[in-house]
Amino acid sequence: MTEANSHITCPHCGTELPAGSTVCTNCGKPLPERKWYSLKGLNAAEIFLLILGSLMLLIGLVAV
Ligand SMILES: [Zn+2]
Repeated sequence: MTEANSHITCPHCGTELPAGSTVCTNCGKPLPERKWYSLKGLNAAEIFLLILGSLMLLIGLVAV
């Protein structure tokens, strides 16, 4: 368990692959980039707050 975060799971077939893989060795489908995983690491609430925050900023700019 030295590199727990160095494994990714194929979203298509669920096979565990070493981090950095670009194509699944089992189903051959391309894997999403790391950004996708970091985004998934965010809570839904955190993403909601981010969107809400930018919306409030926009409304504030329009209102003035
Ligand atoms: Zn796969």
